[in-house]
Amino acid sequence: MNSQQLRGLDQIAVTRLKGVGAALEEKLTRLGLATLQDLLFHLPLRYQDRTRIQPIGTLRPGDECVIQGFVVSADIVPGKRRSLAVRLRDGSGQVTLRFYHFSAAQKNALKPGTELRCFGEARAGRTGLEFYHPEYRAVADPEAPVEERLTPIYPATEGLTQTRIRGLCEQAVEILAQQGGLRDWLPEGLQQRYQLMPLNDAVLYLHRPPTDADLHQLSESRHPAQQRLAFEELLAHHLSLQRLRHLQQRQGAPALKGDGKLIRRFMEQLPFALTGAQQRVVDEVARDIHQPTPMLRLVQGDVGSGKTVVAALAALQAIEAGYQAAVMAPTEILAEQHLINFGNWLEPLGIEIEWLAGRVKGKKRDEALARIGDGSARLVVGTHALFQDDVHFAELGLVVVDEQHRFGVHQRLALREKGRHDGRLPHQLIMTATPIPRTLTMSAYADLDCSVIDELPPGRTPVNTVLVADSRRPEVVERVRAACGEGRQAYWVCTLIEESEALQCQAAEGTAAELAEQLPELKVGLVHGRMKPKEKAAVMEAFKAHQLDLLVATTVIEVGVDVPNASLMIIENPERLGLAQLHQLRGRVGRGTAVSHCVLMYQNPLGQQSKERLRVMRETTDGFRIAEKDLEIRGPGEVLGTRQTGMMQFRVADLERDADLLYPIRGVASEMQSHTEACDAIIRRWLGHGVQYGSV
Ligand code: ADP
Ligand code: MG
Repeated sequence: MNSQQLRGLDQIAVTRLKGVGAALEEKLTRLGLATLQDLLFHLPLRYQDRTRIQPIGTLRPGDECVIQGFVVSADIVPGKRRSLAVRLRDGSGQVTLRFYHFSAAQKNALKPGTELRCFGEARAGRTGLEFYHPEYRAVADPEAPVEERLTPIYPATEGLTQTRIRGLCEQAVEILAQQGGLRDWLPEGLQQRYQLMPLNDAVLYLHRPPTDADLHQLSESRHPAQQRLAFEELLAHHLSLQRLRHLQQRQGAPALKGDGKLIRRFMEQLPFALTGAQQRVVDEVARDIHQPTPMLRLVQGDVGSGKTVVAALAALQAIEAGYQAAVMAPTEILAEQHLINFGNWLEPLGIEIEWLAGRVKGKKRDEALARIGDGSARLVVGTHALFQDDVHFAELGLVVVDEQHRFGVHQRLALREKGRHDGRLPHQLIMTATPIPRTLTMSAYADLDCSVIDELPPGRTPVNTVLVADSRRPEVVERVRAACGEGRQAYWVCTLIEESEALQCQAAEGTAAELAEQLPELKVGLVHGRMKPKEKAAVMEAFKAHQLDLLVATTVIEVGVDVPNASLMIIENPERLGLAQLHQLRGRVGRGTAVSHCVLMYQNPLGQQSKERLRVMRETTDGFRIAEKDLEIRGPGEVLGTRQTGMMQFRVADLERDADLLYPIRGVASEMQSHTEACDAIIRRWLGHGVQYGSV
């Protein structure tokens, strides 16, 4: 094929096809189908086999197929839902065709002896196997040929029928079959290295699979044709994130390099030495922020791995270099915890810290804004409130975002835009305790650099986790009595399926009262999301000071609580929480030297999936393994939340199934980087015009 002479199919508008007028064009545009190439990449969701007639006697439930036979009877069956039941017979057996919507004329036409050819899905019904509302027509010529090809089923939308879209794709496929014309942008050497099917062949195959194609393999998207496209699609996503990253790197940032005095003083007063992993990450961050291009680095570290001190050291470097630093957390309780920690560490060094949350209002807020604006506040800690429109920093050098997994790519970008000053962006450090599985850091987070704190501070003992049915609640209560009797403290976490916070809090109140009654010798406290911050803080303080033995809580304690003497945690209905959240909760114990225990008190009966998930919690305390498992069991949508996956809609690829493709893709992407034209074309082909996040 000489692609020089042919116009690429990405240059030919859909309007060139037969039957595409203005109205249809508009519908197609809405689907992102503007060119013949777009149509060719509008791939079938699945296929129907209408290529042969299946004997009725061999039908199994779920078979989607063509059958042909004679009408035995057509009766109206009365009942709650009146239906027309047509018995159909061939030489091998009988089935029922059932219609809930039908006309008298239709019934009359289905006279006994009429020969019908039908297509539909066999399902178990009242009379054995039944076809509900099958497509059917009377057979004039019993030898009339069936379809020659498998029938592709395309994604369609309102106003655009299957027949219509199929007709259009067929036209585009015909042109492709005749003259080729999809430019293959992957260098040949690379295709050979990864044994990829040629692009035109792959696309043709998927629109027109041969009749003997392995439909099972296709339905699982494991066919080489699909893998070829999945490879390119993942590459397209990766390239677009890479581009985003380059765009950002072209922006300037302040080089944060001070004289090191503050850092030295900070290290001297720190009551512990950094772990090797902490030191490594501190160095990685330092290297980044010394540069005049904005850092975008994700620090992953398990619960308790000591991320805060890494963030503090980064903030100190910004401050030392004469800039401000901001620390943002997604909830007030977590932000408060940072305020306390940073306050303890930085105030002795004479650094002014400002607090800004949604609840800071009126005069207080004005004063805070003034101090942020004139630069007297060197460090600002808070929630999203930090990034409201009227917050202006004097000169923000670094933004630290904790628990980033709750925010998506777009928010990530919005945040740093906030800090733009004289055309320069602040450096950004993102910290997450929910380990992001490698497959996702290589895809959804490919625009970030990653650091991992893969070591816990010394002296921690792994938490021993047990699963107990809630029928054994009395034993669990005894366990709490025993642990607290030995001078330890315990958490009792209540969860509820209801979204309502009010109900959750009510349940926690009930549980606290009940436990106080059963354990009269213990001092029982309660903390939940509806309490005022001051009340919450008072209870937490009391627990920290060991004025309380048992703390009953809703999941608000998930983050930010550090009480080393607490060595037992009971979690009610753990099956209702995500693994990441359970892992976070469990991280509240095991912070001291005593052996800690976590009791997952589930409600029977427990489904298979829940069992499997809870077993993971028992078997490992490694946050990364837990996250990988969670991904495996629930899929990326659930794990990341729909927000984050909003931009990760794949047509062919599946992060989990195609995880092995992600490994080479990183290398391939950097190999292709210099081929701007190819990168553009691949991105456009797969991400179309929806790549807003590429336009920072
Ligand atoms: P996380 O990564 O969960 O945010 P934190 O930063 O809250 O962890 O640290 C957990 C606890 O470990 C804190 O009490 C902190 O002071 C302590 N810590 C952090 N680093 C070390 C270290 N290198 N040695 C001993 N204790 C440490
Ligand atoms: Mg933390």
